[in-house]
Amino acid sequence: MLTGIKFLAKPSTEQKIRLSQWMGCARVIWNAKCEEDEYLRKFSVRYLPVGTYPPIDQTFSQYKTELTPWLKDCPSQILRNSAVNWYQTYQKFLKGICGRPRKKRKGDASSIHLTREVFILEKDAFGNFKLFIGSKTNNIGYLRVKFHTNNFSVPNSIRIRREKDRYYVSFCYEDGIDGSDLWEKEQYLKHFSQFSSAELDEITIGIDRGIKRPVQAGDSYFDLSDNEKRKRSGREKYFKRPQRRLSKQKKGSRRRELCKTKLGKTHQRISNIRNNFCHQTSKRLVQGQSKILVFEDLKTKNMNRSARGTVENPGKKVRAKSGLNRNILNQAWFKLETFVEYKAHRSGKVVFKVSPHHTSQECADCGHTHPDNRVRQDLFVCTVCGNTDNADRNASRVIKKRAINLILDSGTELSKKGVLVNSS
Ligand SMILES: [Zn+2]
Repeated sequence: MLTGIKFLAKPSTEQKIRLSQWMGCARVIWNAKCEEDEYLRKFSVRYLPVGTYPPIDQTFSQYKTELTPWLKDCPSQILRNSAVNWYQTYQKFLKGICGRPRKKRKGDASSIHLTREVFILEKDAFGNFKLFIGSKTNNIGYLRVKFHTNNFSVPNSIRIRREKDRYYVSFCYEDGIDGSDLWEKEQYLKHFSQFSSAELDEITIGIDRGIKRPVQAGDSYFDLSDNEKRKRSGREKYFKRPQRRLSKQKKGSRRRELCKTKLGKTHQRISNIRNNFCHQTSKRLVQGQSKILVFEDLKTKNMNRSARGTVENPGKKVRAKSGLNRNILNQAWFKLETFVEYKAHRSGKVVFKVSPHHTSQECADCGHTHPDNRVRQDLFVCTVCGNTDNADRNASRVIKKRAINLILDSGTELSKKGVLVNSS
């Protein structure tokens, strides 16, 4: 199976300048192809018979003229890769897989695509990987990369990407896992429907995503470390002031650009915390005993409601929840789902989703559902059977119970998004 991997690179100041120049050249070619396409479309509307199309190709040498002498400073393979990538994206667009390739702006994250001719990734005498960038005649030498693992095979092409002054090297490689024996979700559903409910009880885990406890899976819960929480709350104040200042600054001014960079860095740090949390949590969830992982089928609408509360059960401290905290969690919840999904699939486990309806108000023991059951944000006391539990743990048990009942029911079907639904 193909696996993607991303490493942090630490280029020197000189290397940064050269890489940025190359990225600029690649972008010029991409944008030129976009404009060429735009021009040809106008032309075809006016001058070509209906049903015939102008030729779209991957040539780029026509853009290397006296007007663009700096394109010669960039290895031509990089320019070619940019044109080829544009052409491949265009082919995908024709098949309806993605949108029409769009022009790229200067300030956005940019990247270059390097094929085997313009990079060498090899092991040195100590068995550590080292990465050489460029051709024999035009290169930037060895790039310092933080290889956090040596467990990959050398790829055919790599991508160097710049995001807010940080550089990354990423690529796909064949990891040797045979993907053809891995099951689809339908097969899992069919397989597990033969199990008894006691057997399912042992291998199923319900995962509740909440605000107080970000992730509750069975008896264990996952939260940001205290250090991360402290860092995160520190960042909060770095948002408002620059944002207000930004709105007053003149467009295109140098101060505004500086302010923007600062803000972007804060955003990136927060996103790093979030990514890290999602990767670690998803790994631990998938490495656990459970074979069936169950999520609620969350929608943005439901989440807004869960913060604001309903008429009968108004949310408390709504302001705190609707701020940055929720902003972070919202994105983390979806990310976690995606990460768990692909990690589970690779290790022969399955992710199902169930309806999130009233999971926070239902008793996991007797099934009694009422808003009064939820005494506090974190405390659940059933008004009928007296079952007292942490609210998130109770919700996680409800999710698990729902999934088991649905798996055992012969009328259950899987929706496109992997949600277990019973139409009867
Ligand atoms: Zn109860």
